[in-house]
Amino acid sequence: MTRPVVAALSLAGLLLTASVSSLPSPRPPEHGDSPARRLQRFREEERGRHPLTARDAAARLAEIARGFAGTGERSRAIEILSEASGRDPESGEILAELARLYLQNGDYEFASAALDASLERTELRLAAPDLYAAIGEGFSAANRLEDAVAAWELAEKSGAEDPAVRARLERARRELSVTSGQRLVQSEKFAVYSDAAVAESVVAAAEAHLETEYTRQREFFGAEDLPGPQIVILYAGRRFFSLVAVPDWVSGVFDGKIRISFDPSTGFTPELRSVLSHELAHAWIRFLSRDHAPGWLHEGLAQWCEGRRFPRKDFHAVFARVPAFSLSEMEGNLGRRGDRAAARANYIEALGLVEYLAFTRGEGAVVCLLRALSDGTSLDEALRREVSVTSAELVTRWKAWAGM
Ligand SMILES: [Zn+2]
Repeated sequence: MTRPVVAALSLAGLLLTASVSSLPSPRPPEHGDSPARRLQRFREEERGRHPLTARDAAARLAEIARGFAGTGERSRAIEILSEASGRDPESGEILAELARLYLQNGDYEFASAALDASLERTELRLAAPDLYAAIGEGFSAANRLEDAVAAWELAEKSGAEDPAVRARLERARRELSVTSGQRLVQSEKFAVYSDAAVAESVVAAAEAHLETEYTRQREFFGAEDLPGPQIVILYAGRRFFSLVAVPDWVSGVFDGKIRISFDPSTGFTPELRSVLSHELAHAWIRFLSRDHAPGWLHEGLAQWCEGRRFPRKDFHAVFARVPAFSLSEMEGNLGRRGDRAAARANYIEALGLVEYLAFTRGEGAVVCLLRALSDGTSLDEALRREVSVTSAELVTRWKAWAGM
C-alpha cells in the first residue's frame, strides 16, 4: 500500500526539476554553495554531454538533499531524496535517510513506506547500522512497534555491534507480543492505547483526567507544551509488566511512554487517577531537565504532583529502623527493583526531600532546580545555585526539619 507513495514522491521530485530555471553557469567552488545552487548546477550538468550514471546522480542528489535538511528545508530535502531513490532504488542509505526525515516530520505512514521499500528491494545496499537504529528509536517513540522492530532488524543485519540495539529489539518484540487488539484514542496531547479488556468508559475517564492534569502540571512547571502527543498505554493486568520484569507492587512506569497496569474490573479508581498523574509528571520532569534529573528528584516530584504528602512527624518512625540514604545511595536503590521495603523507604525519602524543599524554598525552587540541570550542570552545582545547599546538607537539613 505504501510503496506508491515513495514512487509518487519521486515523481514530484522529477517534476520539480522542470521548474528549476537554466541560468548561465559560472562555476563557483562547490563548498559554501547553497543547496539550491548545487541543485541547479547538477541539473545543468545532467543536460551536458557526459551525463552521470544513475547511481552517481543519486549520490549527488542525496548530498544536495542533506544540504537542504541541514538548512531546515525538510520538505525540499524529502523531495530531492525521493528523486534520488528513484534513480538508485537499491540504495539503503537513501531510503533510510528518507525514512528518518519523514519521522522527523511526524509523517509516520511515509516513513513506514520508505522502510517497507528497503525490505522489498532484493539488491539493497544496506545503510549504516546507526541510521537504522535511530529510525527504530523514532518509530518506537511513536509506538509503531512493528516498524521499530523492522528498523532494528535492519540495524542488526547491517552489522550493529551496540548491545543496546539488540536489547531494544528484543524488548520491542516482547512488547509487540502483548499489543494485539489494543485500541487507540487520539487527542492533540495524548495517544491512549488500551487493551481490549479495558472498558471504553475507563479509557474516556483516563483521557479526560490526563487532559486536566496536563494543563495543571504545565502551569505547575511553568512550561511550554510537551513535544508531540504523549503515548499512554493502559494494560489490563500485568502481562507486559511481567515480560519486562517490573515488580508486582509497581502499577505505573514511565520509559518515554506512560504505561499503566491495572485490574480492568475495578473501573476508574482513585489509584488509577494518581498513577496517571504521577507518570505524566515524569514526562514533564524528563522534558524540563532534558533527562538529567536524578531518580530521587524524579520520584519525589512525581509523588508531589500526584498530590501525595507524607506527614512531617511520621518520617521519624520510618527511618527509626532504616537509616536515611545519601542522594547517591538513593540513586542506586531506585534502580534496584527487588527489595520492596528498601524501595518504599526510598520513595518516602525522595518525597520528604521534595517536601522539605517545597516548604522551605517554595515549589518554584524545585522547578528551578530541574531547569538548572537541563544543560548538564551537575546536581551539586544546581543545588548550590538554586537552593544553596550541597547534596549532603540537603539530606541533613531534611532530617533536622523532620525532627530526626
Ligand atoms: Zn515514579
